[in-house]
Amino acid sequence: MAGEPRSDCLFCKIVVGEVPATIVRETETTVAFRDINPQAPTHVLVIPKEHHADAAALAAAAPGIAADVLREAGEVAAQEKTDDAGYRIVFNTGAGAGQTVFHAHAHVLGGRGLEWPPG
Ligand code: AMP
Ligand code: ZN
Repeated sequence: MAGEPRSDCLFCKIVVGEVPATIVRETETTVAFRDINPQAPTHVLVIPKEHHADAAALAAAAPGIAADVLREAGEVAAQEKTDDAGYRIVFNTGAGAGQTVFHAHAHVLGGRGLEWPPG
């Protein structure tokens, strides 16, 4: 069922504490933790606790939680003090765009100059 935890999903395992992560913020509906392979001084992933395959599926099934993820991305940027300089919120969607974990997640990147367009 949409939103149910998946036993084969890495990020569902982080939600329940089965896989360790450096958690920086948590709400009733979301968890934010440091990316294990950071691409910038600030690189935090914000995920919904519910399992949805990607950002669009999350927004379609649970728009309120999609909004929670975006709000938390902003809170992470503020907590990391990268909100004034600017930061980027990225949702890689589909393998061709670099998505490797099929549980919706926002990358919050900051703390260095960010090129546009991205690679
Ligand atoms: P994506 O490639 O957009 O699906 O993003 C998945 C991200 O998850 C990558 O940036 C990985 O470095 C990160 N990642 C994979 N395993 C872990 C983990 N155990 N803890 C934290 N981040 C992870
Ligand atoms: Zn999951």
